[in-house]
Amino acid sequence: MAKTNESLAFKTEVQQLLHILAHSLYTEREIFLRELISNASDSLHRMQFEMLTNRDVVDPDVELGIQLNFDKEAGTLTISDTGIGMTREELIENLGTIAHSGALAFLQHLGEGEKPADIIGQFGVGFYSVFMVAAEVRVTTRSYHPESQAWTWTSAGKNSYTLAPAGKLTRGTEIEIQLNTEAEEFASTWRLEQIIRKHSNYISFPIQVGEKIINQQNALWRTPRNKIEEEEYNEFYRQLSLDPQAPLLHLHLVTDVPVYIRSILYVPGHLNEDRFRLGTKEGLRLYSKKILIQEENRELLPEYLRFVEGVVDSEDLPLNISRETVQSNRIMRQIQRSLTSKVLGSLQELATEDPDKYQKFWEEFGPFIKQGIAANPFSHDDLLPLIRFRSSRSDGELISFADYVARMTEAQPAIYYIIGENLDSVAHSPHLDYFKGHELEVLYLVDPLDGLMMQSLREYEEHPFQNVDDANLELPATAEADEDTEEEVAPDDFGALLVQFKQVLDERVVDVRASKVLRGSPCRLVSAESGPERDLERVRRLLEQDFEIPPRILEINQHHPLIHNLAQLLKAGSGTGTVEIAIEQLFANQLLMEGLHPHPAEMVPRIEQLLAAATEEK
Ligand code: ADP
Repeated sequence: MAKTNESLAFKTEVQQLLHILAHSLYTEREIFLRELISNASDSLHRMQFEMLTNRDVVDPDVELGIQLNFDKEAGTLTISDTGIGMTREELIENLGTIAHSGALAFLQHLGEGEKPADIIGQFGVGFYSVFMVAAEVRVTTRSYHPESQAWTWTSAGKNSYTLAPAGKLTRGTEIEIQLNTEAEEFASTWRLEQIIRKHSNYISFPIQVGEKIINQQNALWRTPRNKIEEEEYNEFYRQLSLDPQAPLLHLHLVTDVPVYIRSILYVPGHLNEDRFRLGTKEGLRLYSKKILIQEENRELLPEYLRFVEGVVDSEDLPLNISRETVQSNRIMRQIQRSLTSKVLGSLQELATEDPDKYQKFWEEFGPFIKQGIAANPFSHDDLLPLIRFRSSRSDGELISFADYVARMTEAQPAIYYIIGENLDSVAHSPHLDYFKGHELEVLYLVDPLDGLMMQSLREYEEHPFQNVDDANLELPATAEADEDTEEEVAPDDFGALLVQFKQVLDERVVDVRASKVLRGSPCRLVSAESGPERDLERVRRLLEQDFEIPPRILEINQHHPLIHNLAQLLKAGSGTGTVEIAIEQLFANQLLMEGLHPHPAEMVPRIEQLLAAATEEK
């Protein structure tokens, strides 16, 4: 026996969300229709898919479609579909208790000033937008399962909803909206048509207002490319992704051999982190012969291209493909290959033809490509041309490996790079002294992922990579010896100073020694190990709480005035205290430059001591 009326409460975050929606901007309210139609369309797609293998359903022959009716006098609007419907449990699960990381994330975004209409569809709470226009909503639905019964869910959008058995015999969902007094405009053919054309034109099932079909219904990806306007691609993207911003790039793939593929893919205009975190709407919509067989396919593109959105349709796929994987299916593998090379090819084209736009791409999605390089050694040929860096000679512009190689000097044995915390600290790093003096370009790697990527890179076009903090740095053999205007500290005095450095720093350094490459800076820290492991140190420091960077070698510049002074002070036997404090601070400075200083505030008392010494009256 069906239970009778019962009243259930919404979760707190849903109550909050409803309150906000009820008070949302007048001009945004029309999007409730887009959300309801999108839900109806999803349920129709699922029905279509189910019926490929199962005819034992309620109303197997009824037409798949969406019907809108209104009653101006009564102020009601009804949206019905012949989709999959919901059982009582599904009603509670989907419209009642939903649990909601989505509701919370949505509320958070509103707090950051985003408009509800722009983002609601992305968080799995789109249905509730109906309360922007409704005084009361009744959802009556019957699931496709033959033994199922119909139920009605009713709510005024406050704190609770009621459930009651219903007499509906046909399959699908009917949503009756009692429009609130400010939403009477939606009881109008003209207004409904206008909204459907604007937001739901590419829904593939017929949407009728009264007797008339309003939407275009065609599958844009099967329309010849020369018949499609740019704006139509953008509109399709908006309807597909519910992202109000235009995409950065679209591509339309049409192939017949070796596989039949019709696909429209988009690179979004910006990275939507929530989507990745919540895992909503990730992947491509996969159609076989125009039937949607998978809403979120994540196998047709490699993991590192998971920011790409779009649809893929193939005549060659078996309809049960969603239960197979790319590995197990030859056609899927071929499609994956075609899509991947099309996306990467288009990105390379963009890089050459529209560098500004490419820069935007790089800033949003560069980390994905780096991750791709780190994880897929076989993709390097395709991915390395996409990489961009800033460098010591790029004037803040982004350059590619190819740009770098084109500017290399003949004698230069390697592609040099520096890993650091941010552009500012690497630009002022003592590691660059030598390179600046010799006009050798150094790539700035300041993203934590850069270290991860470099670990898997040995060379680019036969030029090995070399980190400038490498203790065994290989430098080009220059014809003339470097002239350094400053005089060298006398060997004995310098030796004594090194001993002092070692005593003070003890186990915090592996060694202290003279530097061959420093010019303007008094000292630098170099890695004792030169393995690729060390490029990972920064990543590990981010990920592992108690990871400690292994001690380094401190190199000292014999020509630097400060080092001169210290050697003098030490020799005169006066002020060992000051020498010691200075050594501590020089070491701290280097840790700071490397972005490795654990407690920068610790430096303050020492700096004050040094200032006191410097300002003392002689
Ligand atoms: P989303 O559609 O993003 O999951 P919604 O809040 O719009 O979020 O809908 C919640 C759920 O309610 C849907 O995932 C679906 O399972 C169910 N639902 C909503 N509308 C319908 C409908 N017309 N037919 C069948 N199920 C529906």
